[in-house]
Amino acid sequence: MLKLVDNLSRLGTESAFEILAKAAQLQRQGRDIINLGIGQPDFRTPEHIVEAGIKALRDGHHGYTPAQGILPLRESVSADLKRRHGVSVDPENVVIMPGGKPTMFFAILMFGQPGAEIMYPDPGFPIYRSMIQYTGATPVPIVLKEANEFAFSAEEVLAQITPRTSLIILNNPGNPTGGAAPETEIRKLAEGLEKFPNVAVLSDEIYSVLLYGGRKHESLLKYPALADRLIMLDGWSKTYAMTGWRLGYSVWPKSLVETVVRLAVNCHSCVNAPTQFAGIAALDGPQDAVHDMVRAFDERRKAIVPLINQLPGFRCVDPGGAFYAFPNIEGTGRSARELQDLMLDKAGVATVAGTAFGVCGEGYVRFSYANSIENITTAMQRIGTMLTELK
Ligand code: PLP
Repeated sequence: MLKLVDNLSRLGTESAFEILAKAAQLQRQGRDIINLGIGQPDFRTPEHIVEAGIKALRDGHHGYTPAQGILPLRESVSADLKRRHGVSVDPENVVIMPGGKPTMFFAILMFGQPGAEIMYPDPGFPIYRSMIQYTGATPVPIVLKEANEFAFSAEEVLAQITPRTSLIILNNPGNPTGGAAPETEIRKLAEGLEKFPNVAVLSDEIYSVLLYGGRKHESLLKYPALADRLIMLDGWSKTYAMTGWRLGYSVWPKSLVETVVRLAVNCHSCVNAPTQFAGIAALDGPQDAVHDMVRAFDERRKAIVPLINQLPGFRCVDPGGAFYAFPNIEGTGRSARELQDLMLDKAGVATVAGTAFGVCGEGYVRFSYANSIENITTAMQRIGTMLTELK
């Protein structure tokens, strides 16, 4: 009998991948499944980015690269941060990662241990809590409320800080809610954090480009008072439809760069070389495809929210960012998990129960609207029919 280490029993998972597998299995059995479960753009990676990756391989870029990432890519990231957020970031503080996830993995490993408290959004990306528990640290939820359009309250975050708090994780715009905190709240938090110089902050800004209705992204990078303890996570997955390439980056305080690069060397050595060249093409090249995708997501957002609100027992706030709608489903009389299973089995629509994102997700389900308006409309019709028949 093999004996695995104890902390593995506390490691959670991301249910969206299980639902993707189940939806694929149903499709193989001939079922017509509309996938509103997985959080990835349904667009292809723009052609010039693909070409840059292929060219890099043809040019012989097939070996190891520096663990921190190739310098031209880190320079492109700096230039992009200057363009988008108006901040100057030294490429020496940028670390290229195989996706967005490794940054949270490493940051939580760095600050999590028994006795420490780590704050994280609930409902929120499930890996935060999973990794906090894995390290033995105490997870402290930042409860995101529907009444507040799922934006965090700076006051509530600050009030939960204790002498044991080692790290605060924020995700704005947020998965699974689509909530986007207003600039005023972000400023209030950044200013309040000045009183807690020993608390690190992981700001997951992977959806920073996906904001709607005139909303503007306010990066925590803009606050110099946080520069010595802010880890800012972003990447290519959502912005450039590159989830499968596995490319992300993070900006680290100078004092942590050596440690995170050492973790990278121990773990993955480096991101594959051609992908890093594709990443340069993405940032330096034309952004038309990104603007088109954002416009398409916004159209879908405007289509899906009223359709959800017509479903009996559903109530949905307008999501300000990302590509998720997170309706309240308490009026259906079903639990989130029950409804997720019914929608998949009976209506052929894959979604994710709110409880996959934390205990505060009970009473909600997540729809990813990274799908065509036609599919979204059909999915909502099928769910409507199913709910009427179940009554
Ligand atoms: N952060 C959030 C909030 C996400 O929703 C996701 C993916 O769904 C990630 C990070 C991970 O991104 P990547 O696929 O680049 O690892």
